[in-house]
Amino acid sequence: MSPFLSHMDIALAEAEAAALRGEVPVGAVLIDPGGRIVARAGNRTRELADPTGHAEILAIRSACAALGSERLPGHDLYVTLEPCPMCASAISQARIARLYYGAGDPKSGGVAQGPRIFAHSQSHHVPEVYDGIGAAAAERLLKEFFRLRRD
Ligand SMILES: [Zn+2]
Repeated sequence: MSPFLSHMDIALAEAEAAALRGEVPVGAVLIDPGGRIVARAGNRTRELADPTGHAEILAIRSACAALGSERLPGHDLYVTLEPCPMCASAISQARIARLYYGAGDPKSGGVAQGPRIFAHSQSHHVPEVYDGIGAAAAERLLKEFFRLRRD
C-alpha cells in the first residue's frame, strides 16, 4: 500500500489555467488504479459553448475515451470545488472509486448540500468522498476570479 499522495496541486494548476482562459476556475484530475494521471481538465463551458463543459465532465470523457470504457472503476477524481449535481451524477455513473474535492460550494454544490446526489436512493454507486483538500487555495482562486469580473 503506497502512502497517500494528493494530486490536488495538479487540479489547482488546471483551475488556474481555466481562469486565464476566462473560465470559472475549477480543475480536475483523474488517477487510475496504478496511480497514473489519465486525464486532467479545467472548465471550458465558454470556450466550447457547452454548459456541460465542467472540469469533471471533461476529465471523465477524456479518461473513458482513452480507456475505451464507459466506467472508471478504481479511479480517483480530484476536483478543486465541490461537484455540482450534474458532475456528481456523472461521477456515480462512471463508478469512480474516490472523490477528493477542495472548497465546498453552497451555491451550486450537489454532494454535501443541495440535492446531495450520493445520498439519494437513485444513486447506484457511491464513491468515497474526502472534502476540504486544498480548499483554501481553491477558494482564493474563485474569489479572485469573481472579484476581477465585478471590477
Ligand atoms: Zn459540474
